[in-house]
Amino acid sequence: TNLGLPVPPGFTITTEVCRKYYENNKYPEDLQAQIDAHLSMLEKKMGKRLGDLENPLLVSVRSGAPQSMPGMMDTVLNLGLNDVTVKSLANQTQNERFAYDCYRRFMQMFGNVVIGLEHGTFEAILSEVKGRYGVTLDTDMSVKALKDVVAEYKKIFLKETGETFQQEPHKQLSMSIDAVFKSWNNRRAITYRKLSNIPDDIGTAVNVQTMVYGNMGEDSGTGVAFTRDPATGGNELYGEYLMNAQGEDVVAGIRTPRHVRELKKDLPDIYENLVQVCETLEKHYRDVQDLEFTIEKGIFYILQTRTGKRTIQAAVKIAVDLAEEGLITQEEAILRVNPSDLDRLLHPTIDPEAKVEVLATGIAASPGAASGMVVFDADEAEAKGNEGLKVVLVRPETTPEDIHGLAAAQGVLTSTGGMTCHAAIVARAMGKPCVAGCKALQIDLRAKSFEIEGRIIKEGDIITIDGTLGNIILGEAPTIDPEMSEEFDRLLKWADDVRTLGVMANADTPENARMAREYGAEGIGLCRTERMFNDVDRLPIVQEMILADTDEAKRDALNRLMPMQKKDFKEILKVMEGLPVIIRLLDPPLHEFLPRFEDILTDVTTRRLKGEKSKELEEKEGVLRKVRLLSEANPMLGFRACRLGIVNPEIYEMQVRAILETIVELTREGYDIKPKIMIPGVGNVSELKFINANVRRVAKEIEKESGIILNYELGTMIELPRACVTADEIAKHAEFFSFGTNDLTQTTFGWSRDDAEGKFVPQYIEEGVISVNPFAQIDVKGVGALMQMCVDLGRSVNKDLEIGICGEHGGNPESIRFCYQAGLDYVSCSPFRVPIARLAAAQETLKDKNG
Ligand code: PEP
Ligand code: MG
Repeated sequence: TNLGLPVPPGFTITTEVCRKYYENNKYPEDLQAQIDAHLSMLEKKMGKRLGDLENPLLVSVRSGAPQSMPGMMDTVLNLGLNDVTVKSLANQTQNERFAYDCYRRFMQMFGNVVIGLEHGTFEAILSEVKGRYGVTLDTDMSVKALKDVVAEYKKIFLKETGETFQQEPHKQLSMSIDAVFKSWNNRRAITYRKLSNIPDDIGTAVNVQTMVYGNMGEDSGTGVAFTRDPATGGNELYGEYLMNAQGEDVVAGIRTPRHVRELKKDLPDIYENLVQVCETLEKHYRDVQDLEFTIEKGIFYILQTRTGKRTIQAAVKIAVDLAEEGLITQEEAILRVNPSDLDRLLHPTIDPEAKVEVLATGIAASPGAASGMVVFDADEAEAKGNEGLKVVLVRPETTPEDIHGLAAAQGVLTSTGGMTCHAAIVARAMGKPCVAGCKALQIDLRAKSFEIEGRIIKEGDIITIDGTLGNIILGEAPTIDPEMSEEFDRLLKWADDVRTLGVMANADTPENARMAREYGAEGIGLCRTERMFNDVDRLPIVQEMILADTDEAKRDALNRLMPMQKKDFKEILKVMEGLPVIIRLLDPPLHEFLPRFEDILTDVTTRRLKGEKSKELEEKEGVLRKVRLLSEANPMLGFRACRLGIVNPEIYEMQVRAILETIVELTREGYDIKPKIMIPGVGNVSELKFINANVRRVAKEIEKESGIILNYELGTMIELPRACVTADEIAKHAEFFSFGTNDLTQTTFGWSRDDAEGKFVPQYIEEGVISVNPFAQIDVKGVGALMQMCVDLGRSVNKDLEIGICGEHGGNPESIRFCYQAGLDYVSCSPFRVPIARLAAAQETLKDKNG
């Protein structure tokens, strides 16, 4: 109103009243007096009075929260009508049909919102009467039909409440105001607030506003409009309207509303009004508005406006456009986009409009959607993939041996495991969708089928997995492709100018590294070398190395692996020229590279039972012995990481040589490379000292051989509580730290992550024992406290110590907040989450700056 817009006159009872009401269980003493005073001012202005026999004022009673909660609370329209005023309205407007149409609408809304009667009860009567008169559209109902509806509605009130329909307009008003205030706490509103992080205690306002009518004939109408397209963000008016209708007709879907484009043709003056209002509102609120308008006998009114909800695509475009139009600053644009939502922009997603049949839901482990034929083993996936077919790999779980199948598949579905199971981690790194730990999935590998909620799905059947929501869908669901729009790129560049926290990527292959650079990573924070061992060509050599009986055989296998590792390092370092690359030495326990104990045992037993005597069987028996020997009760806490490197020094020596010789070669070729070697799983400074000594020794040898001074850094992962607590000792022997928060969370909680996420974390969350999964979002109180201790201790002996994070948390906005506050230098995450991290990091700097 203050902006001079054509808003029907009225008054607002503020949110303060709502808060007081909920605090004290009653309204403030002077509320009624204030309402009366404002009502008489309104009556004077309009020259009408509420309940007046000749010239009745009709009002709407609307909710209005400080933050938009569209459709969640209640509204009553046409208030002030009763058996007498309906006649005055008919006289005044010379339109009896209109008057009774208003009356029946009011009765229905009052009955539903204020008295709590079922909406359906009224609808049923309406349909019944329409049937009786042989019409289908509300607008075709005669006066007589409408009067019948009113009469039937009255019976409902009497039957359901034992009282007649409230005839006294002032009473109608106070009852409606009360009901709208109370709708703040209806179930819809409570749920919506929870989902949208709106506080429960801010309350709603109630607006009492003079009615204007869109249902007064063909020169009247009503509509809703967005100042920009909420789906794409395009700068064009987007909206729908209906002539001769009231608000709810537009949303009810009985008549098909028309696009505002047509308004331009049909009523150009009105359209011009609408455009003007949209411009004024956008300028004023500095954001896209979602507004409601009414045309009453050719006069344009605006009834309400609120910040328009939008898709993430639109959010990005709108933020950038508004900044470029000078309506908001670049900093505000950065703050207007929710980083977590960006995830949806970077993977194909299931078309939200599509009707799909969800068979079951598992853990949404890697976002995006993938459709394809079901296959149950990796070789089959690869074979079909090579034929150009789309497949979804379905396994109880995956192991490094399945890697080629994962590479060939569109996505992966497992019945066990969680967010950090093998399938999930590999899928995320590859940018493929993964649904993990779907308990409803009963896989029969022999029959090549699975059962899900009583349905049998066989090999070759088509399914779609939705890694964003965790759904398993029958058939091929339509998807929409991701798009790195120009605006998206621009927004991220602005974010880069602002942020102080570095963003690196976890990448193990040249392709991943390339993608990381493309998405704006400033280096590689974690290159897991074990992934290179899993390649189909290499796994047999790795297995040979593990199974070797003599040192010589072991060295021979390692010597064959070395050139392959060198090739990988060389390519990755070249791709990342000019940027740091942190290469981590081997981390997982060796048995992960061997067949599963159960599989090899079955194979050997079957062969023995058949009386087989062959060299192959002997070899398999050898493998079985080794697998048994290497098997561990708690592999995650067992013989892995630096423990493995200390006990089998030749493995790390090979890796270090491969890295350092690559440095020599690339230095000679003139490349500007910044390699760093990282040791996993250090808990005791002696471990680091032991390995450092070996690395330095190898480096000396290579420097001597090549005559080149090697330029590299040597640092450690921090992934054990003991490392955090003794970080001052460790920092004296490390040039950098990188938090491995996957393991640090696991070891701090004492929860094995694969078991935890599959077995009890979901229930813990459901029961409210914990509120978020600590493997997805840093547990600030526990893990975070250890990290902070580590940062402080580490920097107390080395104030320039570079500290980052490379656990999965590095791409999670809430965890990024913590990393920023704890004083980390960078976060490192999978390439697909790099844009999220760039934006989240910039937001933290801005929030800090703005207090
Ligand atoms: C970690 O523990 O956080 C980490 C990055 O190492 P990984 O996940 O390879 O154990
Ligand atoms: Mg780790």
